[in-house]
Amino acid sequence: MRDTLPLLVDTDFPRIRRDRLDTLQLNLGYLCNIACVHCHVAAGPTRKELMDRDTMGLALQVAERHAIRTLDLTGGSPEMNPHFRWLVTEARSRDMHVMDRLNPTIMREPGYEWVGAFLAEHQVEAIASLPCYSKENVDAQRGNGVFEASISALQELNTLGYGQPGSGLALNLVYNPLGASLPPSQAALEADYKRLLADEFGIVFNALFTITNMPIKRFGAVLLAKGQYEDYMALLRDAYRAENLKNVMCRSLVSVDYQGYLYDCDFNQMLGMPLGGTEARPHLRNLLEADGPPRGISVGGHCYGCTAGQGSCCGGALDA
Ligand code: SF4
Ligand code: SF4
Repeated sequence: MRDTLPLLVDTDFPRIRRDRLDTLQLNLGYLCNIACVHCHVAAGPTRKELMDRDTMGLALQVAERHAIRTLDLTGGSPEMNPHFRWLVTEARSRDMHVMDRLNPTIMREPGYEWVGAFLAEHQVEAIASLPCYSKENVDAQRGNGVFEASISALQELNTLGYGQPGSGLALNLVYNPLGASLPPSQAALEADYKRLLADEFGIVFNALFTITNMPIKRFGAVLLAKGQYEDYMALLRDAYRAENLKNVMCRSLVSVDYQGYLYDCDFNQMLGMPLGGTEARPHLRNLLEADGPPRGISVGGHCYGCTAGQGSCCGGALDA
């Protein structure tokens, strides 16, 4: 797999600085029950990297030390980490808001039937990937059978109260484009998703997050292999909007890898670009001792993916 990192490091993307820290985003490991073409983590069923319980405990101490109120869990499939339930239970007992970036097909895997009920019991915000409302497109991007498994999992989440008015159980869906294009308008697509999923499958949800594909890892390699890398980068740069800079997620979040090392965001984590533009590799242990993370942020050409058009972050469009 060809790596786009050497093409991204030399950039004219503006310097940005962190201004607050309200979220710890923990990557619990690269193990996933499926292997999507666009995956910027290159996750899949054969990956062995998983966060251990000591590192999770350290993350909870750091959250307490810096009054961080939100834990954003990602992967891979976070629920496949054997300590997932321990971590969620501990964080909720500290009254932290917990978000689970859920690939809903995990709920249809043998041995993971507990996922929906567990999330509901602990009032975890579910952020479920569903890259399209069409079976053909979802299966093309994620593999055969993924659409049907996702739909039935979302129906189960609805039955548990997710997405239902007044339940307090938020169900948000994530869309990303199939290929080398920018996402359409988040508001318009959300309206389409709501109408079609309700009409066809009786599914309700709170919000749709549209996320721009990043030219890194597996998706970056696909762009290079198809000769589309330069055009995609030009698309991102041409759609640059400076007003998105104030809301890029690295200004309020620190990303933690499965070993406890720190990055400015999940994308930088995957590229191995350490937190704060430093040569050193800061770790959770350093945050436990420090007054806060460094203010500097490591930027690269991929950052244009966050500022293009309506903007993009783990919570969808920046101008929403
Ligand atoms: S479900 Fe998510 S983590 Fe798993 S391979 Fe697909 S994009 Fe990657
Ligand atoms: S890619 Fe990461 S570092 Fe760059 S702007 Fe986006 S969130 Fe910030």
